Amino acid sequence: MQYVKCGHEKFEWEFTPLGKFCNLCKKEIPIVRLTTQNLKLCKECFNKIQEKRLLEAVKKFKMFSPEDRIGIFLSGGKDSATLAHLLKRLYPNYQIFGIYINLGIKYYSAYAQKAVEELCAKLTLPLYIYNLAERDKFSIDEFIFTNFRYKICSVCGTIKRYLFSKIARELELTVIATGHHLDDLISTYLTLFLNGDFISIKRLHPVNPPLFQGQAKKVKPLYAIPEKEIFYYAILNELPLESCGCPHGEITPSKKMKNIIENLCQENRTFKFQLLSIFLQKFIPLLRENLEEKENFQRCIKCGEFTLSSSGVCGFCRRKELLERVLERKLEIDPEEWIEITASEKCKDWVVFDVREKEDFLQKTLPYAKWLSPQLLEKERELYLNMRPYKNKKLLFFCYTGRVSYLFTLTLRKMGFQAYNLKDPEKIFQT
Ligand code: SF4
Ligand code: ZN
Repeated sequence: MQYVKCGHEKFEWEFTPLGKFCNLCKKEIPIVRLTTQNLKLCKECFNKIQEKRLLEAVKKFKMFSPEDRIGIFLSGGKDSATLAHLLKRLYPNYQIFGIYINLGIKYYSAYAQKAVEELCAKLTLPLYIYNLAERDKFSIDEFIFTNFRYKICSVCGTIKRYLFSKIARELELTVIATGHHLDDLISTYLTLFLNGDFISIKRLHPVNPPLFQGQAKKVKPLYAIPEKEIFYYAILNELPLESCGCPHGEITPSKKMKNIIENLCQENRTFKFQLLSIFLQKFIPLLRENLEEKENFQRCIKCGEFTLSSSGVCGFCRRKELLERVLERKLEIDPEEWIEITASEKCKDWVVFDVREKEDFLQKTLPYAKWLSPQLLEKERELYLNMRPYKNKKLLFFCYTGRVSYLFTLTLRKMGFQAYNLKDPEKIFQT
């Protein structure tokens, strides 16, 4: 079983018996090992441990009560799916809502939405879908045409945070529950610490009360569960997950930090828990006592949402305006349009690349297409050198489903090429 996380991290796992009997119930066959203790457990005992952790977290930080309207932002990934499954199982009579933000990321958002729809059907969880392209007339992919092209995940984070508040208000949510887990918290704490960003550390807590009237409280019920165990939970409980990974996945500083922490855990299995308790019990209380923060929220002059921005325009509206200044934001060519181009003079400006397997290219390809190894996606320097002679041309990529050629399109756009993806290439093959 392989799972690719939003951001290209991979998890792999195979179900194999780990011994004769589960260390807790002493009856069932153990199939999963707790990462922090040397315990081999059966599915039921493993689930019980995670349920207990979540119940303790909710109780300890008074995360919500029966009157609350709780929203879970589902991404199609393992963390939010596990959170929804656990909350529904442990609080069946609470008002819990699933929310999916379709960010318009091609070859990703639609698959993720399908996984979320399946999950909500399985859990009988009411689902609210917010479609960015329909509501706000842009998609995350289009930032490839702006200076944010190297920081798509950061711009995506700003857009999502803004929409969390907006949707929470639309649905009258009093609590937003997110799937942040132990590894997320620890890696972010350490990254912020090394950057000297103590204000952000102070704010990073399992519970964040509303900052202004009408804002929902934010809670992280999975904060004490290691990421690997969330992966095991999602797989053992057969939760529907998207598994193709977002084409913009980046290795961020906090992801690099996760690898460093993983190495330290080889030496000391409880390292993550020790660090968590130092931050929550010692460091954050110290910061709260000594670090004053002035938060002057005001309404954005464009959209009316609360913002801290000194310009009076919130981050969402500023990014939206930035996109509106780019006149052509096209990344894909329809088959009909391509047929028209090939029949016209414009054809001279174009070079076509087939990024399928070589034997398929040799059997049949589009007229004048050149073959490019799909492996070049992993060797950006080599890809750049290969494409340099075509800097002044328009480049068209195609593959089987459009996904790999779309990745080529995005990668080359970042490098400054005029790259496009061919939609539905089979249509042209058939003509
Ligand atoms: Fe995740 Fe980045 Fe894709 Fe947004 S753009 S969904 S943050 S990988
Ligand atoms: Zn705004």
